[in-house]
Amino acid sequence: MIASKRILITGGAGFIGSHLCERLLKDGHEVLCVDNFFTGRRQNIAHLLDEKRFELLRHDVTFPLYVEVDQIYNLACPASPVHYQFDPVQTTKTSVMGAINMLGLAKRLRKPILQASTSEVYGDPTVHPQVESYWGNVNPIGPRSCYDEGKRCAETLFFDYHRQHKLEIKVIRIFNTYGPRMHPQDGRVVSNFIVQALRGEDITLYGDGLQTRSFCYVDDLASGLVKMMATPSEVTGPINLGNPVEFTMRQLAERILALTDSKSKIVHRPLPQDDPKQRQPNINVAKKILEWEPTVQLEQGLQSTIHYFDNLLRGHQHPIS
Ligand code: NAD
Ligand code: UDP
Ligand code: UDP
Repeated sequence: MIASKRILITGGAGFIGSHLCERLLKDGHEVLCVDNFFTGRRQNIAHLLDEKRFELLRHDVTFPLYVEVDQIYNLACPASPVHYQFDPVQTTKTSVMGAINMLGLAKRLRKPILQASTSEVYGDPTVHPQVESYWGNVNPIGPRSCYDEGKRCAETLFFDYHRQHKLEIKVIRIFNTYGPRMHPQDGRVVSNFIVQALRGEDITLYGDGLQTRSFCYVDDLASGLVKMMATPSEVTGPINLGNPVEFTMRQLAERILALTDSKSKIVHRPLPQDDPKQRQPNINVAKKILEWEPTVQLEQGLQSTIHYFDNLLRGHQHPIS
């Protein structure tokens, strides 16, 4: 039996955050979910609101936050290119000032803090698959920079608070993650393709569709985050979390068309600027230190995601509860 802890999750009403809230409540903890609802939605956590150990606070992490907790998961930040480029200045502020405030909180409390960093710190990578020791290939002034550089600066802050203030930090680099509760309009490839296929609309493949990604199911990701938080204090990361099974976006489109039995056509649209050509995590460190690896196969994960969006599009209130 794990001792119950008070756990703060920033960005807890978002896609990954809501699954993490659920997981930590299941493990017997108290959860304080902090979110400003920029991209997160109340319906993602509506089914948790009656739970006595769950508390929801509307708050923007770019402002200071004074609460008493035992652990902090810092997930607050828009994650899809469409959302983080909508207000790029706010994106950088959220990453950088949000990190400073949450680190200040962890410093006052002397408690561990986990940062949801990203594979975007590797930019358009020249090392493949990406290992944690790779410093990345990031454009500092492009449309993705608000997110990439914001997240890189947050990592810098985490390691400086660790060195300077002896803070217990845990940095995880999350690779593309998918599953129920992705925002249907967030423009990410899995949600776009599924929604388009279910509606019988054209599937918008950007560029030649030969660019690759590797997709991790959200339950696997949440387990990895919890395992990281449970490591001894000397484990700081950064550690990659993701599914190393890599495929092209064309293959993904074809797979989703087959699974939804859709008659949608694949059409080509211009490739966005600075779109990484390939991405695959090397997860040897996670395997060794966290004894973690993904367990959900793409087919299985896509099926439950399709089921979620199918219910959502039919207007069901709580598609997965
Ligand atoms: P999401 O957009 O669904 O969730 C982000 C949450 O943060 C939302 O609920 C949003 O309202 C909240 N938020 C944004 N700005 C805030 C602010 N200033 N104050 C308080 N709350 C704020 O995205 P997600 O996919 O769940 O991503 C969660 C985290 O994981 C992010 O930090 C993201 O960078 C990271 N990540 C996600 C992926 C992925 O594939 N989903 C990949 C790499 C990293
Ligand atoms: N902070 C916070 N909650 C706390 C403690 C600090 O939000 O419980 C904020 C505080 O507003 C400060 C930031 O975290 O701006 C960084 O805190 P730190 O102690 O590192 O810096 P300082 O207060 O010395 O600027
Ligand atoms: N993509 C696509 N069609 C879409 C949305 C995205 O072909 O409707 C491509 C996009 O160009 C990228 C990949 O799918 O190469 C993953 O995009 P996403 O926005 O999901 O994540 P990221 O680029 O941040 O990995």
